[in-house]
Amino acid sequence: MFDYDTYPELERGTVSRDEMTIAPENNFTNVLVLRELESHAVFTTDGQSADLANVAVGSGDDRETYSPGLMFMRKQTGSDRRFGKSLQRDLLGTECTMQVNGMCQDCVECILYGSAASDDADKQLSVTSRVMYDTAYTLRDATAVIDEKFQNAPGDDYAKTAEATIREPDFFEPGTLFPSVVTLRDATPEELAFVLGITAKNKRYGAATSRLGRVKNHVLGVYTGSEEGPANLGLTRDVVTRLRDSDETGGDSIQDVITAAAHDPELVGDLLREAFDDRVDAERGGLDLERVPDETVDDLLEAATGDSLADVLETQLDASRAFLEQTD
Ligand SMILES: [Zn+2]
Repeated sequence: MFDYDTYPELERGTVSRDEMTIAPENNFTNVLVLRELESHAVFTTDGQSADLANVAVGSGDDRETYSPGLMFMRKQTGSDRRFGKSLQRDLLGTECTMQVNGMCQDCVECILYGSAASDDADKQLSVTSRVMYDTAYTLRDATAVIDEKFQNAPGDDYAKTAEATIREPDFFEPGTLFPSVVTLRDATPEELAFVLGITAKNKRYGAATSRLGRVKNHVLGVYTGSEEGPANLGLTRDVVTRLRDSDETGGDSIQDVITAAAHDPELVGDLLREAFDDRVDAERGGLDLERVPDETVDDLLEAATGDSLADVLETQLDASRAFLEQTD
C-alpha cells in the first residue's frame, strides 16, 4: 500500500509487509507529538496526587530545579490501545479486549502493541510490543499546571464530617503541554499509518468515563532510521531553554518559563521540532535518523484518518498473521 518505490524515505525505518521478522532488527520510526490538554485532566497513580518529578534544567547562572507534572507511559499506551481496538471494531468488526490475558492475538493491534500469553491453547505466545512510549513531562512547574481550586476546597459548614474532608484529585489545567515521542520498531508502513491514525484521532487520556482528559495530539514530524529518538525528558528540557531564548516570549529566565501562565502551543511545536532536528543533526554527532518529508506524513495521515484506514488494516492483517506464524 505504501510501497518503497513511492515512499523511499520509509525504507530506512520500516520493514515491508513480507519482511516482517520475529528476530528484532534496527528499523526505527519516531513520531514526534505535542500533547495539549483541552480540558482538565487527572493523571495520578494513587487516585489523588498528580504524578510529579524533580528535574534540573538550564545551566550556568540560569539553572533551576522544577517539579513537572507527568503523564506516565502506561497512561498513553492504555488510552491509545483502547482507541486502536475501538477503531478496528468500527472498521472491521474485530472483537478484541483490553484484558491482559484475554487479547485475541489475531488482530493488527495485538500483534503490533503486544499481548500476554493466556491459558488458551492457541495463545501460548507472548507478543512483544513494537511500539514504545516514554513518560512525558510538562514544560511548567506543578504550581503552574495543577489546578489548586479543586483541592481541599473548604466547605461552607462550620463542622465537617469525615467525608467532607476527602480530597479531590489534582487536576492538570487546560493548555498544559507534554512533548512526546512514540517509537515503532520493525513496523511496516501500514502499521505506522495505524499508529498515526490513533495519535491523530485519539482525544481522551486519563479518566476514561468523563469529560476530563481531552487532549489534542499535534503530530509534528516522523523520523526514520536505525535509532530510537531522544527521550522525552531531554526534549522537554531543550524546549524550556528555547522558550527562554525565544524573542516571542516575554520571559528571559528559566524561572519565567516554568512559572508562566501559559505557553503558545504553536511556538512550542516549532521549538520542539527544532530541538529534535538539532539532535538528529549529524554534524554534531547526532542520531542516525532522517526527517520524513511532510508530504509523506500527510499521505499517511490522510490514509489513516479517512475511509481507507479499513483497507490499510485489512492489508496489514494477513502480514501480521503470517508474522506470528513464523514462531510455529
Ligand atoms: Zn486483538
